[in-house]
Amino acid sequence: MAVKSIAQRWFINSFAVVLGILVAIVTASGVLIHNFYYSAVRQALRARASTVSSMMLRYSSGGVTSNFYSDMRSYIESFPDKDYMELMAVDPYGNVSVTSSGFSYTNKWDRMPDYDEALTSPDGIGYYVGKLSNGQHIMAVTQTVSIINSEYSAMRFVVSLETVDRMILNLLLIIIGIALAVLALVLVSGLLFVRSIIRPVREIGSAARQIAQGDLKSRIVKVSDDELGELCETINFMADELENSERLKNEFISSVSHELRTPLTAIKGWAETLMTIADDPATLQKGMRVITAETERLSDMVEELLDFSRIQNGRLRMVFQKMDILAELGEAVLTYAERARQENIDMIYNEPEMLPFIYGDKNRLRQVFINVIDNAIKYSDPGGSVKIDAFLRGEDIVITVADSGIGIDPEDLPRIKTKFYKANYSRRGSGIGLAVADEIIQMHHGRIDIESTPGVGTTVIISLPVQEPPEEGTEAAKV
Ligand code: ADP
Repeated sequence: MAVKSIAQRWFINSFAVVLGILVAIVTASGVLIHNFYYSAVRQALRARASTVSSMMLRYSSGGVTSNFYSDMRSYIESFPDKDYMELMAVDPYGNVSVTSSGFSYTNKWDRMPDYDEALTSPDGIGYYVGKLSNGQHIMAVTQTVSIINSEYSAMRFVVSLETVDRMILNLLLIIIGIALAVLALVLVSGLLFVRSIIRPVREIGSAARQIAQGDLKSRIVKVSDDELGELCETINFMADELENSERLKNEFISSVSHELRTPLTAIKGWAETLMTIADDPATLQKGMRVITAETERLSDMVEELLDFSRIQNGRLRMVFQKMDILAELGEAVLTYAERARQENIDMIYNEPEMLPFIYGDKNRLRQVFINVIDNAIKYSDPGGSVKIDAFLRGEDIVITVADSGIGIDPEDLPRIKTKFYKANYSRRGSGIGLAVADEIIQMHHGRIDIESTPGVGTTVIISLPVQEPPEEGTEAAKV
């Protein structure tokens, strides 16, 4: 299908245009050549006619004598150009009385339209191109001669156009030949060009189909350095990205399964233990505490997964209201204070006096702070520190969470906000926390920037505009 249409398009857009131009050139040059030669012959005949008629006038200026007729007759019969031109003297009745050839090209049945025209035209000249009764193509020019009492009323020059016609035909054949050669050249080069496009396009198409059918390892060999080559590179890049996201998805499934299994194993273990030693209150309490904590962890994880799927479907809804951001940040810090202490991480929160209110979804923003602080603690080793600051910078409220943890490699840094992306597999996590946080902050018209040095630490900077008017329809409840 594609083959047909590219060739067709080329045929219509290029070949048909060239063909049209060549036909126009051949026609125009045919007309020009014809006109040029015919008008040259006509000019020559007219020049001859005026020379002969003025010669007759001069000769008869003393009156028409019998000598005049015999001299004119012998001039006509020995006319110097009679080999290629016939000269005739026409009498006042329109009959040819003398001709240079002795016998006439014309016979008495042949019409003489040029003679008729000469009689009526003001300059006494008539012109005719046509065929004689014997089929000969001729051009004739008649010049009337006004000599009183003369037997001759006009001189007529007739020339055969056969040589001229042959010359015109030869020239035309040469031009048509050149035009056909040009056409053949355009056809061959065009078809080669079209084929040079169609073949790689087919190859690219079949490789792209292979990729679409799931063969993500398949790559296209770059066919050339032009736009087609660029297309190959783009498709290969697309395949790279597909392969990458397929890999990330698989890793995500395995890390989520792992994440789910760990608390489930703890819950199951403790439930079994409690069944056997239900009479020991201390063990019972400890077991119940572990079960509650692990259940909460599971539910948080499921909630995060649900949020992620809502973001993917475009169904994450916010409930915007005027809110105190410090209250939510304070709560998130408090949630992690105990864990930081247990893990021997120094958590420092420099709470400012007060900050302006913002319009936002307080639950979602708290979720973002929890996520970032959780990461800071998770990617820090015991003895490290997590420093949290909040301040006003211009029109923005800025919250920074700086840890002295393991840091992030510069090549991973641009991608860690991408869904499923984990720069570090040594710690628990599904790789979607930052993607969700980034989406929430963007919905608040803010941004998350991350600065990090491996082995030194990471700083997450959240900027939120102070007061954004609520958006239309954002009061919708969480789906
Ligand atoms: P995860 O659940 O794996 O923590 P996130 O989306 O929260 O997923 O983070 C993505 C990746 O970014 C993490 O896997 C980790 O490699 C890196 N990262 C995020 N925060 C930090 C941090 N404070 N220190 C070091 N690495 C971090």
